Amino acid sequence: VVSGGLILTMDEQGTCLRGEIAIREGKIVALGEALAGVETAERLDASGCLVIPGLVDGHTHAAMACFRGVADDLPLERWLTEHIFPLERRCVDEELVYWGSRLACLEMVRGGITAFADMYFFEDQVAWAAQEVGLRALLGEGLLAGPSPAAQGPQEALQRAEAFIDRWSGHQLVHPSVDPHAVYSCSEELLRQASEMARRWGVPLVIHLQETRQEVAGARDRWGCTPLQYLERLGTLEGEVVACHFVHVEEADLELAARRDLRVIHCPESNAKLAAGVAPVPEMLEWGLVVGLGTDGPASNNDLDLFGEMNFAAKLHKVVRGDPTVLPARQVLEMATRQGAQALGLPGGVIEVGGAADLVVVELGAPHATPLHDPYSHLVYAAKAADVRDVIVNGRLVVRNHQVLTVDEAETLERVRRLAARAQRS
Ligand SMILES: [Zn+2]
Repeated sequence: VVSGGLILTMDEQGTCLRGEIAIREGKIVALGEALAGVETAERLDASGCLVIPGLVDGHTHAAMACFRGVADDLPLERWLTEHIFPLERRCVDEELVYWGSRLACLEMVRGGITAFADMYFFEDQVAWAAQEVGLRALLGEGLLAGPSPAAQGPQEALQRAEAFIDRWSGHQLVHPSVDPHAVYSCSEELLRQASEMARRWGVPLVIHLQETRQEVAGARDRWGCTPLQYLERLGTLEGEVVACHFVHVEEADLELAARRDLRVIHCPESNAKLAAGVAPVPEMLEWGLVVGLGTDGPASNNDLDLFGEMNFAAKLHKVVRGDPTVLPARQVLEMATRQGAQALGLPGGVIEVGGAADLVVVELGAPHATPLHDPYSHLVYAAKAADVRDVIVNGRLVVRNHQVLTVDEAETLERVRRLAARAQRS
């Protein structure tokens, strides 16, 4: 039982209530004022705190935590081809992915993230890290037309992707997806095969889409349409598709996205840092699209902090539209919770009876968090990731009083420092 806090359920009606949340076997079984007759094995006192659904990081490359700050202040093209790709070819292996992902999971869960979506290589290692730390995750082996650190070519990558899905299907916390990198880095054949695999297994297809102006211009040159319209032509929008970024978007894309129920993950800090552009999120929401929030990888952000991301998203669109009424705080918090979970097809995102017990207790004791007038405003404009006190994922207490209970944090930091030093020398 979690008791005593102000509960923001993040349901469609925006219900807030004071009372208790009873949890059994990973689910919320009762919600409301002083639950009589609930037998309590363990009680978490959240008095004076806010209780919210766990935050959902809709897009990241967790293992890139090892490459945090390795190359900054560069355009995407140069950043990728001169720095990230060569570094990945030299040093990405199972060991680096495991420890980098474990570090990322620690950062995420301490900041109230209970679920995340990840695209990288050696994805089994990400799955182990997520499971050991105790996070929910949608994970997919990255697919490329050429060789990757984990595969000689696309056919081997597809085999790895399918074996991954087979291995983790039905797991409580780890949910598989199929992750072709982007339309410019995958062949038509690979995109078709990836889509077919996703539909055959009934899992989402996750792709970077329309991130930069060059990507859209390139698609126009090659196929005479935008990347989304190209995917439609290939028949790959039939199943559940998650588009990360979706920055350079025209009216026809929004119409098509709404018709195909495309899920979008908005990554404003990464888009800003790489000067990719600003996604038309208010327009997407007007079209009824489900839009989640993502950090993108820690090499392009450079943190995994959804409080910072919410704060930035809420302000960015106001500046761009010259209108302070767009993306109000509650709507942004919805993107980081309910809409994020919906976009990824994962449980959680709402505090409701029968729903997943993914909960975050945010403390209000710090000077920057005092006084409290409007809890939504508080969470988006004033709170910090470090205000997260306790985190429950799937009914399990993972963080208590700012300490991660599940894995050894000091060991993880030490291993990542050593791997980063090795990468520097390579
Ligand atoms: Zn990405």
